[in-house]
Amino acid sequence: MTSNIIVECLDCGAQATFSAAQPGCPNCGSMWREARYDYAEIGGYLINRIKNRPFDIWRFRELLPVSSPNLDISMGEGGTPLIKARNLGMMLGCPHLYIKDERQSPTASFKDRQAAITIAALKEAGIDEFVIASTGNVAISYSAYAARASIKLWAFLTSLVPAAKMREVAIYGSQVIKITGSYDQAKQVAAEFAKHRGLNIDMGARTITCIESMKTIAFEIAEQLAGLQGPGATTPWRAPDWYIQSVSGGMGPIGVLKGFEELHKMGLVDRVPRIAAIQAEGCAPMVNAWKQNNDTASPVISPHTLIATLATGNPGRTYSVLRQKMLAASGGVMESVTDTEAFRAMHYLAKMEGLSVEPAAAVAFAGLVKLVRAGEIRPDETVIINCTGHTMPIERNILGEGWSKDITLPSEMESSSEEGLLAALTKVSIDRFPRIAIVDDNPDVRRLIRRILQSQGNYALFEAENGRDAITLARTERPNLMILDLMMPEMDGFSVISELKKDPDTAEIPVIVITAKELTPAEKERLRGHIQTLMQKGDFMNDELLDEVRALLG
Ligand SMILES: *Cc1c(COP(=O)(O)O)cnc(C)c1O
Ligand SMILES: [Zn+2]
Repeated sequence: MTSNIIVECLDCGAQATFSAAQPGCPNCGSMWREARYDYAEIGGYLINRIKNRPFDIWRFRELLPVSSPNLDISMGEGGTPLIKARNLGMMLGCPHLYIKDERQSPTASFKDRQAAITIAALKEAGIDEFVIASTGNVAISYSAYAARASIKLWAFLTSLVPAAKMREVAIYGSQVIKITGSYDQAKQVAAEFAKHRGLNIDMGARTITCIESMKTIAFEIAEQLAGLQGPGATTPWRAPDWYIQSVSGGMGPIGVLKGFEELHKMGLVDRVPRIAAIQAEGCAPMVNAWKQNNDTASPVISPHTLIATLATGNPGRTYSVLRQKMLAASGGVMESVTDTEAFRAMHYLAKMEGLSVEPAAAVAFAGLVKLVRAGEIRPDETVIINCTGHTMPIERNILGEGWSKDITLPSEMESSSEEGLLAALTKVSIDRFPRIAIVDDNPDVRRLIRRILQSQGNYALFEAENGRDAITLARTERPNLMILDLMMPEMDGFSVISELKKDPDTAEIPVIVITAKELTPAEKERLRGHIQTLMQKGDFMNDELLDEVRALLG
């Protein structure tokens, strides 16, 4: 039992002390309860007291339902980095975009927060056997922490979970029960089993420790953002304008909202962010209800998504709780994306930001793109996106064909023959690749275009930072294509084009013009007939640039 916390029933208002062994309201039996703390008191000393603590979830122990951190169980959960998404931000025209990288958790998903705190609380309550139902990651996290705490875990998994994830659960020594059916059915079977055996079961948003654990994401973001964005705020810590997460059961956003509400009550931040909850289109009961302005969600009986992690078809009352919290704060949106959009997001995240994420995490990024395009998220806003989990191994659906170059060496060739090896390597040699010149005075734009091209095709790339160099480059390197900025000091893009056209050696080089500003009719007229394509800067998120490049190179 911990003394810093009171649990209040959402149905009858009764208040009780907290113990992980007693999940329901002692007065009415309701499972829907919320933890409360003495915010005035804790707010008074929090920042000062935590100064010298390690940056992990236990840093915020005064606001958690565990009386003391259990160092025997802890694996350094929480305290994940907040990374500036520079390339993605440029591509979208959103300079204040940050990724909360939850892949860097002990079992590579944000469920570790939930497992670490729930297992520690169970241990404090003297419980040594526990039941969970999962779409994969909850089972992996709980299994790892249960192993350290010597708690026997029964993991009920839907058969939709990729086999690699199921094996990961099993290796930690949990009892895996595979239910051939939907996740909602697996949950029902698990609940029956727990009831029958008299065991405690994880109930997601109804389990106090789960919601409380997710608050730490908000606490960390507020502290990190204050550090990253520097002074200028009126409060010690800083809340973003948006928190974006891919959503299945909805526990994450409820906990994160509660975390920001608490920070706000304690005067540590000046606002509660808007939430963007993103679901997979083939299983989006919350999005459907949200868009119809309904307070209850109709279940999706048979989810149609390859992304098993997000296959909660029936969110139940969690949806209403989340919706009410969102409306009570600054609002927000619920949106869905297709599996294809999510898989595409996996590619650009890996290729542009160096992050290999699992499909479920990519759903949030695909949602971000959609919301920016729709004008819902504005360029000046600070956006945090939760990168909820790592992918390992790369699931088969993601890569498609042609992702490797195979080199077969002639059998008679001696392995030590350098010439033979070099001959075989001409297949991947650079002089056979189409040659592209990138001309822009802004080095960041050149770098971005270079990255977009090199990550998705084989090109020999050349760069020039001004018009003069571009002409020289065109004469010496004879590119097959030029990507040209219009607005450059001294010699601008218009002049580069006329110079190129004067010289028969360079007159035929196709040109794609990329411009940051709307062109006047007169400017458009100057370009007519001299260039192949005109593109707008700050919208590199669609495949237009690559498609044009491929088309022009034939
Ligand atoms: C669980 C999970 C989600 C969905 O989280 P909820 O807040 O429970 O809806 C998203 N991404 C990953 C990787 C997850 O494991
Ligand atoms: Zn009650």
